[in-house]
Amino acid sequence: MSRLVAQASGILRQCGGRMTTQRRLILGTLDEMGGHPTAEQIYRIVRAQDPSINPSTVYRTLGWLAEAGLVDARHLAPGRSSGRREQFDPSFPAEHHHFVCTGCGKVVEFASPHIERAKQEFSHTQGVTVERASLTLYGLCAACEIAKE
Ligand SMILES: [Zn+2]
Ligand SMILES: [Zn+2]
Repeated sequence: MSRLVAQASGILRQCGGRMTTQRRLILGTLDEMGGHPTAEQIYRIVRAQDPSINPSTVYRTLGWLAEAGLVDARHLAPGRSSGRREQFDPSFPAEHHHFVCTGCGKVVEFASPHIERAKQEFSHTQGVTVERASLTLYGLCAACEIAKE
C-alpha cells in the first residue's frame, strides 16, 4: 500500500469517512507518479484505469488531501497562477525547496543547510518562531540552456 493511501485511510477512519476504490486509485497514482503533477495530469492517468471516474472526484480528493496536510498544493509554474495549475507535492511535509525551469517546467527538489541557517538567524534576530521555509528558484535547466544556444 502506498504511503498516501495508508495515511489517508487512517485520517478517514478517524473522521468516519471511507476509502473508496476511486480515492485509493487517485492517491496511489499520485504516490507512484512522483514529481509534482497537476490535477489534470493525475486525472489523465486514473481515467485510463477507470473510465467512470469524474474529474471533480479527482479535484475534490486532491483538495481534501491538501487540507488534511498530506500533500502540498503549490503554484510552481512561473507566471500568473490559477487554481487549475496547482501542482500536488507528495513530498510534503518533509521540508524541501524547488528549482523550476522556466523553459520546460521541470521541477528539481533540493534541501540546503544555508536555508536552515537563515531560518535560525531570522528567528534569533527577529524574536519570531519560523515553522517552515519554502523557497522556489527559477531559471533554465541544463538541457534548456543548451537548446537556447
Ligand atoms: Zn516538492
Ligand atoms: Zn528546462
